[in-house]
Amino acid sequence: MILINNLQTRYAHRRRSIDAAIAKVIDRGYVVLGPEVKNFEAAFARYVGVSHCIGLGNGTDAIELALRGLGVTQGDMVATVANAGMYTTTAMLAIGASPHFMDVAAESHHATLEQVVQAVDAGCRAVVITHLYGAAVRDIASMASYCHERNVPLIEDCAQAHGAKIDGRQVGSFGRAASFSFYPTKNLGGLGDGGAVVTSDDTVANRIAKLRQYGWSSKYVVTLAGAKNSRLDELQASILSELLPFLGQDNARRREIAARYSASIFHPFVEPPPVRNDDGYVAHLYVIRVCNRDQLRAHLNERGVAAEIHYPIPDHRQPLLSIRCSGITLPITEQNAQQTLTLPCYPEMTDEEVGKVIEAVNSWVS
Ligand SMILES: *Cc1c(COP(=O)(O)O)cnc(C)c1O
Repeated sequence: MILINNLQTRYAHRRRSIDAAIAKVIDRGYVVLGPEVKNFEAAFARYVGVSHCIGLGNGTDAIELALRGLGVTQGDMVATVANAGMYTTTAMLAIGASPHFMDVAAESHHATLEQVVQAVDAGCRAVVITHLYGAAVRDIASMASYCHERNVPLIEDCAQAHGAKIDGRQVGSFGRAASFSFYPTKNLGGLGDGGAVVTSDDTVANRIAKLRQYGWSSKYVVTLAGAKNSRLDELQASILSELLPFLGQDNARRREIAARYSASIFHPFVEPPPVRNDDGYVAHLYVIRVCNRDQLRAHLNERGVAAEIHYPIPDHRQPLLSIRCSGITLPITEQNAQQTLTLPCYPEMTDEEVGKVIEAVNSWVS
């Protein structure tokens, strides 16, 4: 079976780096917020091109603490998309903020500048922009400057886009702050949960550094409300520091696989994604559009190819929110949720496996 992600091969490829990273932490005996977290934070901030990185427990906490760090509190309205797996909405709900859902463009699956303008006009206190599926949002610079003019902080969610660039600038460097996840299957992932906020704003960085550790200003002295315990693990930080130098080549390999899919998948019912052959695209997920999705998925499974749906239920249609959001319709988001299907696309795939996926799709008799 060709899996949707294969962590066994991923770790086998990097076994020596990972073993060394773990050994270093064990030898030192410093396991929480120690030198490895500091090193990784400095390296990752430098990589993104910002002044600060604050290592956290996971990517959802990163969104929550970025929002809190920017002053979002209970009752505030925050703009987000409804097609990105509920992570941002979960973060908002933890604060008691309420989501203002923006519909997306059909091709890109991203929020548009027009939607951002509407959200700000509607009184949103912050805007979260998700670089979904590994594609940098093309208008991110215009969105960021519009929000900046209106004094509404823009947060980039970069959990699917580590290393993607727009006009030579890394995603994560456009907004007032940005969140990353280092969940194992992400473009940069560890051996467990991990996340970070990056920002060039000293005050925001300082607040988030406190919010991640009980609201302490110094040991056992609590000064800040809305805090939690969410620290990047010393082991994960050590591993991520070892893996960061491979991110560029891994992204290039992902892009190569996506380009091959798009050049070779021919089926009247299958619409490949708009693959970009530039560094604005890091191919986190290769998502096609197809009418009889379940039929194709079953066919692929029969041929030994896994396929997934990212994501089957838009946020505003989740059982948790369905009553509260019953008056909301997001036509494109809802249609995409019915028609998208994700094919395996990750750097450890062999050329032969990529060929097998293409053959499996093309041989579908619908
Ligand atoms: C994975 C992901 C997150 C959440 O990250 P966790 O580390 O799993 O909490 C947030 N946003 C997007 C778009 C993601 O893909």
